[in-house]
Amino acid sequence: MYADRINSLPPYLFATIDRAKQEAIRKGIDVINLSIGDPDLPTPRHIVEAMRNSVEKPERHRYPSYEGMLSFREAAANWYRKTMNVELDPEDEVLTLIGSKEGIAHIPLAFLNPGDISLVPDPAYPVYSIGSILADGRPFKMPLLDENDFLPELESIPSDIAKKAKLLFINYPNNPTSATASLKFFEEVVDFANENEILVIHDNAYSEMTFNGYKAPSFLNVSGAKEVGIETHSLSKTYNMTGWRIGFAVGNRDIIAGLGKVKTNVDSGAFEAVQEAGIAALNGPQDCVSEMNNVYKERRDALIAGLKELGLEVRLPRATFYVWVHVNGKSLDFTKALLEKAGIVTTPGVGFGEYGEGYVRFALTQPAARIKEAVDRMRRLDI
Ligand SMILES: *Cc1c(COP(=O)(O)O)cnc(C)c1O
Repeated sequence: MYADRINSLPPYLFATIDRAKQEAIRKGIDVINLSIGDPDLPTPRHIVEAMRNSVEKPERHRYPSYEGMLSFREAAANWYRKTMNVELDPEDEVLTLIGSKEGIAHIPLAFLNPGDISLVPDPAYPVYSIGSILADGRPFKMPLLDENDFLPELESIPSDIAKKAKLLFINYPNNPTSATASLKFFEEVVDFANENEILVIHDNAYSEMTFNGYKAPSFLNVSGAKEVGIETHSLSKTYNMTGWRIGFAVGNRDIIAGLGKVKTNVDSGAFEAVQEAGIAALNGPQDCVSEMNNVYKERRDALIAGLKELGLEVRLPRATFYVWVHVNGKSLDFTKALLEKAGIVTTPGVGFGEYGEGYVRFALTQPAARIKEAVDRMRRLDI
């Protein structure tokens, strides 16, 4: 019944975890869910108010423009100037997305012919490789290893693969490893892309979720980046807007145009009231962002202290709301034991790819008190 491209998708491990979680809840276990990358805090008030005002306007109820409202794209360009020090033309270097996942999933349709290679990190957010498979492309895995600070080793990609590849996906600050990248790494990526004629897609969904004074750069901060790539950005994590479905892509105008062409034929744009709420988020007061980061930092510190005390190997993340923990044995066995014995839901690293094996991802999307409770349970269990 299904097309080969659907049959060739890897099994969706997260569905299995979800079933196990539901089963635990049914048994009456008090489950602490540290598995999902979805902020538990509400969308800031002023953004909700902007949505409320906008949704009252009948002119917002009609089909939106394909490329997004110019006012939203201007707000995105201004935000990039303010936060990233990057100049963008809102007319053709910015595209509204229905969440950045939508853009990431559609990019391979615009640039891969059947059999073409895309370079994707492993472990990773699954959409880079799945989007490539859905476009009949062939994802080639770049391992993200601890010894390389979870950056791909570009020089170890076989040169015939590099020459054939059309797309390269990267994501820093990174989900799931919480690693960050320097401008020097981005410069290497630009050189590699130029040498091999590859288009670069940098997923910057976590640029604002940073701690201890760390500031995550934009890929577009390095010279030559706009000639070879784009960056996707999301309001989901920065402003607690995962359910609203709003994000944007910025950078190289030809890549933006290619993605826009796919979108024109597939979707009809983001609800304009949501775009107006997005404008309020991007143009409005930004203290909500640092307040949320303070909350995540407290949770991070509680979890890290607890995990270290338990003798687990863990690095202190300076960005994202994930903690990537090295465990003994198979990651799936570890997460299963944690759920069955302690009622704690986490994500096995292998769910993000084969090189995630041996790791478990904890998401800081529960209050600090619940995180401390999770650590207490682990201590009692002697995990
Ligand atoms: C959450 C997430 C996204 C996307 O989110 P949208 O809600 O679709 O904007 C993109 N990339 C990574 C790595 C994420 O973790």
